[in-house]
Amino acid sequence: MAPVSSRHDEVLIVGAGFAGLGAAVRLSADHDVAVIERAHDVGGTWRDNTYPGVACDIPAPLYSFSFHQSPAWTRVFAAGAEIQAYLRSLAARVAPLIELDTALLGADWDATAGLWRVETSRGERTADALVLACGRLAEPAIPRVPGLETFPGPIFHSARWDHGVELAGSRVAVVGSGASAVQLMPSVVEGAASVVQFQRSAPYIMPRPDHVFSDAERRLHADPAALDELRDRMFWAAEEGFAERIGDEARVAAARDRALAHLASQVTDAALRALLTPDYAIGCKRVLLSDDYYPAVSRPHVTLEPSAVASVDGAVVTGANGVGHEVDVLVFATGFRTAEQPYAPLVRAGGRSLAEHWSGGMRAYASTLVAGFPNLFVLDGPNAGLGHNSAITMIEAQIELTRRLLATAGVVEVDASREDAWTAEIDHRSAGTVWTTGGCESWYVDRRTGRLTLLWPGFAHEFVAALDDAACDLLTTGVTP
Ligand SMILES: Cc1cc2nc3c(=O)[nH]c(=O)nc-3n(C[C@H](O)[C@H](O)[C@H](O)COP(=O)(O)OP(=O)(O)OC[C@H]3O[C@@H](n4cnc5c(N)ncnc54)[C@H](O)[C@@H]3O)c2cc1C
Repeated sequence: MAPVSSRHDEVLIVGAGFAGLGAAVRLSADHDVAVIERAHDVGGTWRDNTYPGVACDIPAPLYSFSFHQSPAWTRVFAAGAEIQAYLRSLAARVAPLIELDTALLGADWDATAGLWRVETSRGERTADALVLACGRLAEPAIPRVPGLETFPGPIFHSARWDHGVELAGSRVAVVGSGASAVQLMPSVVEGAASVVQFQRSAPYIMPRPDHVFSDAERRLHADPAALDELRDRMFWAAEEGFAERIGDEARVAAARDRALAHLASQVTDAALRALLTPDYAIGCKRVLLSDDYYPAVSRPHVTLEPSAVASVDGAVVTGANGVGHEVDVLVFATGFRTAEQPYAPLVRAGGRSLAEHWSGGMRAYASTLVAGFPNLFVLDGPNAGLGHNSAITMIEAQIELTRRLLATAGVVEVDASREDAWTAEIDHRSAGTVWTTGGCESWYVDRRTGRLTLLWPGFAHEFVAALDDAACDLLTTGVTP
């Protein structure tokens, strides 16, 4: 048996975004914990996405952990920098546990020793339990565009914004029309000489009920009981919104009407309005919130090209529709690698990698525990995402499940039948829904199989209850002591 490495932790957490930091705070109360993070700073999504206009679209008091509330939010939809400040305050609670500039390179379950043997960019170590908190929107996706290497100017992705590039006075191409594009367009068009936005499909956009919190509201946020109550109201309001997007035909139609009325009220040009009208069912992709995107794309120096980018030849960027535009700067707001997570090939147990186990799409019992991978906890992974409510509710439920199971001091292992049953239930619930049949191509769905693998196909409160049930189930029957 290979010796246990000199560096051993009870729990090794990979990633220092919301999930990793939250897990570190909750698990370090009872365990020796270490967090490794490949980047030079904590924050994950909110460290990496610094594009102009970046903000959350869930009210900030709800987009935070119940065990780490902040009275400091300045507005409903906090800007990225405020969220990053919140994450720094969370990280401060576990600062000695965090090892920055340390990437996970490989992890193998040693069944004989009953521990994980982990290779990092700073050496080898072992851990009883491994918590993967590597995110699902962490790897920017740039499409392979023929001729891209011939583009003479700056090229960057929205999640790696190059603040050194002067956009004022430049001709800018923005590729994409999802959440990031809609947030960054208003700032980009402000000073640019011209902007062309390449849009493969139009998003549904609702009005954005944002405001700066008043002094009275901020005083209320400083009262923990009142803040809890406010969070509760925000949570149930978001749940209510979900009912509009699934099942209830009249409410789905009303939501679509509201989005199209918003479009009609902000875009008077009929031809542009037609280009901005989605041709798929509402909810199939994330429904966006914005009051300043439609006015931005209506400006005279902005062109909406209803096409994917097909090729680049020098400074000319050409859409699949054959129309070319000469530009100085190319910005990709093209989302992330989601279905095939980069951490999956690195993690192995019983001679098989997580990527192999997930070749038909990501899957895990209780969206957290993978059959055949003992003492492995995947946070914010398979079917743990939401389109309508706070991701932090989901992550917190997963952390709580992990905490309860680790408290048994045994090896936590789920059998294949549990994972199969959970996956079958997800497949059953997602069959015929707007995500799989709504006529759009979205990152919620694994293109290899057409399965919904990123999104939880239900209300957030159902997820919390299901994970509570899973913990009870495993604690009575399924955990090997
Ligand atoms: C622009 C944007 C806006 C968003 N807005 C919202 C919103 O309004 N509401 C909402 O609910 N959700 C939103 N999300 C989703 C958001 O990603 C989650 O809410 C949340 O931040 C995810 O946290 P995480 O810790 O799971 O992942 P991340 O924040 O991605 O953190 C993962 C961390 O793991 C690290 N890591 C990855 N691989 C390795 C490795 N091999 N070794 C070591 N470290 C590694 C990464 O560097 C990163 O720091 C948004 C996402 C984006 C991109």
